Parts: sequence; C-alpha cells; structure tokens
Amino acid sequence: MELCDYPAYQLVGMIRRKQVSAVEVLESALKRIGEVDGCPGQLDGNNQIEPDKIHSFITLTPERARSQAQKVDHAIAAGEDPGGLAGVPFTTKDIYCVKDTLTTAGSRILSNFTSPYTATPIERIEAQGGVLLGKVNQDEFAYGSSSESSAFLPTPRNPWNTDCVPGGSSGGSTAAVAVGEGCFSIGTDTAGSIRQPAAFCGVIGVKPTYSRVSRYGLIAFGSSLDCPGPITRNVQDAALVLRIISGADPKDSTAANLSVPNYLSELQTPIRGMRIGLSPDYFKITYLDAQSGEIQQEDIPAIMKDAVYRAAGRLAEMGADIVEDVPMQQTRYGIPAYFVISRVEAASNLHRFDGVKYGYRTRQAVSDVHEMYRKSRAEGFGLQPKLRILMGMYVSAAQYSEQYYLRALRVRTLIRQDFNEIFDPKGKYRLKALLTPTTPTTAFRMGDIYGDSVLMQYADQLTVPANHAGIPGISIPAGFDLQGLPIGVQLLGNDFAESELLRIAYAYEKVTEEDEWRTRKPPILTK
Ligand code: GLN
Repeated sequence: MELCDYPAYQLVGMIRRKQVSAVEVLESALKRIGEVDGCPGQLDGNNQIEPDKIHSFITLTPERARSQAQKVDHAIAAGEDPGGLAGVPFTTKDIYCVKDTLTTAGSRILSNFTSPYTATPIERIEAQGGVLLGKVNQDEFAYGSSSESSAFLPTPRNPWNTDCVPGGSSGGSTAAVAVGEGCFSIGTDTAGSIRQPAAFCGVIGVKPTYSRVSRYGLIAFGSSLDCPGPITRNVQDAALVLRIISGADPKDSTAANLSVPNYLSELQTPIRGMRIGLSPDYFKITYLDAQSGEIQQEDIPAIMKDAVYRAAGRLAEMGADIVEDVPMQQTRYGIPAYFVISRVEAASNLHRFDGVKYGYRTRQAVSDVHEMYRKSRAEGFGLQPKLRILMGMYVSAAQYSEQYYLRALRVRTLIRQDFNEIFDPKGKYRLKALLTPTTPTTAFRMGDIYGDSVLMQYADQLTVPANHAGIPGISIPAGFDLQGLPIGVQLLGNDFAESELLRIAYAYEKVTEEDEWRTRKPPILTK
C-alpha cells in the first residue's frame, strides 16, 4: 500500500507525528496520477486516446500543492497546529472556483476563466491544511450522469472497467478517489451527481441536507437543489471532511446557521434499535413510454435489489430494526418534476454567461452587442446547456408555467410529504433512515446512453427524491455485479440527520470489513 492509498484520518495522524511529511504524501499522490491518469481533458481533445487511463483531471496544480504541503510541514516543525486535514491530498470538481486557477465547469464558455476567489468549501479545507492536487472533469455544468458531456476530452473512465463511464456529473471526482488520486474529492449533487458516480466507482458519496454546506463559489446549476458534498474511500473520512466544509457562511445567506456536530466522534455510537426502512417503490424503474406517453414501471435488476436486502441483513446483525414495505408513492414522479424544475433553474443561471464580463467571447465579426451575445453563447455552450435553456424557457413561459413549472413544484411538495411521513417520530414508521439502491443499474458502457437525454436522466431516479425534499443521502459500496462493477446502496435520512446516516454507514463498513469484496482493487491499480 502506497501513502496515497491511506485514509485521510490516518494520514493526518502520521503527518502530525512526523512519521511522514506532507510533501512525501503529496509526491505519492502525484506519482499515482502519473501512473494511471493519462492526459488531462482538453478543449477539442480526443476521446479515443489512452483508453486504459482514467483521465480524471482537467487542471493539475502540482506547484500550488507543493507550496501547501511545505506550509503544513513547516507548521509542524514550528510546533503550530497544521489543521484537521493537515497534508491530506484532495481534488475538486471543476465547478468550484479556486483563486487564480482555471475554473471551467467542463464548458467551453468558461474555458479561459481564471477565478479571482475560492469557493467556501474548498477554502475551508485548505485552511485546515488540505492539499489541492487539481480540478477534475465533470459533465458540462453538471448536466449529465456519465461525465461524457464535458467539453474537455478525453472524459473520465470507470477505474473498474475503462470501457465504462464513471457516472456523473462528478465522475472525475469519484474516479480519482477510487484510484488514490487524493484521499477525497468535493463534488456537487443536484439530482444524484455525487451519489450515482460514487456507486458506479465503488466509493462513498455524501449529499448533505440542502443548506448544510455553503454554495458560495460553486457555479450554479439548480440553485434550489445543488448540494456540495464529499466523496471518500471510507466513512470516517466522509465524517471528517463533512464537518470541515459544513456550517454557516456570511457569503451564502442560504447556508444553515446551525451548529455542526462532530460527525467523526459520533460514528462510535452503536446503531442498535435504529429503525431502517425498505420501500418497494425504490425497487422499480419508472420510465415514460415514448409511443403511448404513459408512465411505465418495471422491476430493477435482481442483483441491485439483492444487494439492498443483503445490506439490510448485515445491519440487522448490528441491531438495527428493519421495516419492510414502506410506501413512497411519489418516487415515480421525481424525474419528470426534476426535468422541469432543474431546466428552469439552469436556464436562469446560464443567463450570466454572455461573453462580456468573463469567459469565452466569439472571435467572429459582430455588428452589435446582441449579435456578440448570440454568437458567444452559440459557440461557447455545448449541446446540454442549449437543450436545457430551450426546455427551461419553454416550461416557465407565461402560457405554460401553470401546466409544467408550477405543477412540478406541487409534485415536489408531495415528494417531501412522503419523507415527512416516514421520518415522523410519532408517525407509523418512525424511521431513522430509508435504505435503497443508489442506482437502477451498475455503470453503463461509454457511448451507450450518451445522446439520449431522457434515458440519461433516468439514471438519477432513485437519488433525485432527496434533492426535491432537501434531505441528506449517502451512497456506500455494497458489493459487485457479475461483471465486477461496483454496486452502491443509499441511505436517506431526515433534515440534518447526516450523523445518523454516517453511523449506519460506518456500522455497515465495520460488519463487512472481512468480506471478500472489500479486498478488491480497481484492476487498473494491479496492472
Ligand atoms: N444527471 C442530472 C442531470 O442531468 C444531473 C445530476 C446532478 O446532480 N448534477 O440533470
């Protein structure tokens, strides 16, 4: 095991005790990147080259990282407190602004944008001694579930099978974490973009309660849905990082003004007696039949359902009470409602990209400012932003908003009510968590779904209800399918119940510690 494979919580101790230096840990992570990552994503790059590499990155920042690591080592030598993440290497999705660093959101329209300031979650990690390795690839503006819509090619690949996608939109983040390119990454989750790629890559992904983590410095997608969160290889690291990035922020008035628990120390509280639910509505795939226009349902693959039941069995061994047949009837409307709400918010958020203040501007001759806007946007945006602007403008137009947008908002309230009912401490179910599959399938092959926006969207159907409701959700690894691709299961909880979800995840990690599947490594690491 190389230094870059150690968990963050152990590295911090080793670095503080001077068993290793922050610089040595950094060099180990950079070496790993050199071995497995291949060329970083480039504008107008080529998706065919180096098919056996991971291609997580858009921008590597080794010089910045070296000076951060040296700072940590100097602080330790001087007897100062180097911070709770001292010397821990990490990456961030390229949707977070980092001062003096290229920040693209995977889009041509931001391909020349160097941010003048740093996003709050990243700033907090750096203030605690975290060492930023660089910015990782993603779907353009986080619009997608495979990371294939980035304007920067090659797009990231799944470390368990490089013919498959890592998921998305935080696919660069989850692929990087899975192969030891940093101990953790910060992603964003608007419909599942942390949890879905975490499941596909066999790592842990936390979508906190809406407002738990500041969105300052995050390039907005759906402002009422977006949640920053950590992606890690183990539950203790998730608890450690979540605590550091959470909390009130004077720069984001929507960040909750609530104290942040010590998630890490609370992990030790046993889960005996906790009520954990299973819902038949999370064992179905819902889709729209294009011919009839009717909503159809079918069972998810048995292997996905079995993984949830197996996990429930192990949690029962740890003393949890498993409650079956919990009805979550609005789940099936999650994607249709999201399709409308997220497009309206995306279209609104994209108005700011006009080629004037920052970002890409057309090089063509233009006769007036409107033509300049039009050409800059036409050339700068890829297919996904364009589709979303068209759809978002349409469903929120005065004559259609009652039929689409306002209706979708009402569906959102109904989805929230499903959760209110099951988490009500005086209600029929009194659950602490709902245990579900994270995704209807394991990772799909590159190119298989790309191009079909509707099908791609359905990859999020089991994760999107949490974004509508604003509640927290965690995806944890729970085994492999017959092709050797990771399966994730999801825990959903009440508002600000991150601590309980992490405790359950930790109990599960402990009880499965000796399982054969826990010892597997992405094949790319054993070559
Ligand atoms: N797959 C979702 C979409 O295409 C995005 C998910 C996310 O959380 N950003 O809109």
